[in-house]
Amino acid sequence: LPGTAVALDARFARELPELAMPWQAVEPPEPKLLVLNDALAAELGLDPDFLRSDDGVRLLVGTALPEGARPVAQAYAGHQFGAYSPVLGDGRALLLGELVDREGRLRDLHLKGAGPTRFARGGDGLAAIGPMLRELVVSEAMHALGIPTTRSLAVVSTGRFVRRDEWLPGAVLARVASSHLRVGTFQLAASTGDAGVLRRLADHAIARHAPAAAESPEPYLELYRAVIAAQAELVAKWMPVGFVHGVMNTDNMTISGETIDYGPCAFMEAYDPATVFSSIDHRGRYAYGNQPAIAEWNLARLGEALLPLLADDQEQALELAVGALKGFAPQYRAAWLAGMRAKLGLGSDVDDEAAALLVDELLAMLESSRVDLTTFFRGLSGVVRGRADATRDRFVHRAAFDAWAERWLALRPDAEAMDRVNPVYVPRNHLVEEALAAATEGDLAPLERLLDAVRLPFDERAGFERYAEPGPEAEFRAYRTY
Ligand code: AMP
Ligand code: MG
Ligand code: MG
Repeated sequence: LPGTAVALDARFARELPELAMPWQAVEPPEPKLLVLNDALAAELGLDPDFLRSDDGVRLLVGTALPEGARPVAQAYAGHQFGAYSPVLGDGRALLLGELVDREGRLRDLHLKGAGPTRFARGGDGLAAIGPMLRELVVSEAMHALGIPTTRSLAVVSTGRFVRRDEWLPGAVLARVASSHLRVGTFQLAASTGDAGVLRRLADHAIARHAPAAAESPEPYLELYRAVIAAQAELVAKWMPVGFVHGVMNTDNMTISGETIDYGPCAFMEAYDPATVFSSIDHRGRYAYGNQPAIAEWNLARLGEALLPLLADDQEQALELAVGALKGFAPQYRAAWLAGMRAKLGLGSDVDDEAAALLVDELLAMLESSRVDLTTFFRGLSGVVRGRADATRDRFVHRAAFDAWAERWLALRPDAEAMDRVNPVYVPRNHLVEEALAAATEGDLAPLERLLDAVRLPFDERAGFERYAEPGPEAEFRAYRTY
């Protein structure tokens, strides 16, 4: 391609042809770049001016690819809401290939909404502007919060309308990830009964995500342990900021430990473990408070898929897998408690038991008074600085909060450290909805403004006051993403 040195490898397609179906993106009638992530483009060594050009936009929708690129739809299986689907795969997505970023890391370049593939199962293969911009804004917020995530490089509107409840303008999202290997990829590989494919997939995953495992006498058990650790760390980072993924099916859980598939996700406002935003999650399987248990359940499914690689004797393999999975709960708990200690500004002199007791009591109070999680924790450093009123007034039982705060203050919390970990700005539901509705009507200004807020989540700035406020609870209490 002129004006660029984009080099796309086809490593996944080459190493795992059984899981890669060659496919082409559809030509959009009128592609128009809506948002380009300049910082990410720079990180990838891609020239933003090129990406804004006609050829660049055609790269971003997959219709003008560099020599050697071999776009594929990836095959995977997965448990959806607990029920096994033997064949899922990229129904509307394509892996364009892998590129090496400025720091030498291998990254997938992937499209969502690029047309129906063989895995579309009756779906149209397309995406509407709103959900693709939601993925962009929420993934940018997650990244800025220091939470591992797939990234959004660009959203391009296609000029084609897609049919949902109403006709909506269509878009393609260009997504970047350290890979798109999922628990469901391993489930599909295992289900083929061909141990060679499963082994090749595991070796591919080790090379990309757990290189140290290659040196181990038990490489596949080490890979499993690495994924368990990465997912324990990940979910432990979701919880303190109130992130609700919404659709933690095994096909939406990565091997890398990056958050993936921003569908019905949202940030919880009033603290309540039962919070659900997805309109199809009737039983609350993926409620906020269930996320650690679901992650563990999904990892058990990964362990089952890996059994043929763990030992020849399958009973012994099962024992090894179960032993590894036992590591999840303590790792999650330790990572979560570390996160909550930081939110409370506690130093290393405070022991874990005392910290855990304070956290548990606080969460119970937040729940019973339906306190907004983000503003509460951000305001809490004000209590250290002698400004307790705004914070204590959030509680129904102010005396109970005062008693808690007295014990907490006695531990000498560090207010400045708290302000570095408790965000001022998260993508609140009413602001996301407002930005997506405006963008759907052609006005991108609210979206750009929201991005400005959430890309620097810890820096309180003048002019962004409304981005720091809870939404209208009455209206959004029963908020559903879709
Ligand atoms: P998700 O719930 O986003 O994880 O998607 C589950 C499965 O449905 C995946 O195989 C997707 O590729 C597929 N899918 C979702 N939306 C569409 C669509 N509009 N057209 C075709 N396939 C889709
Ligand atoms: Mg998915
Ligand atoms: Mg999705």
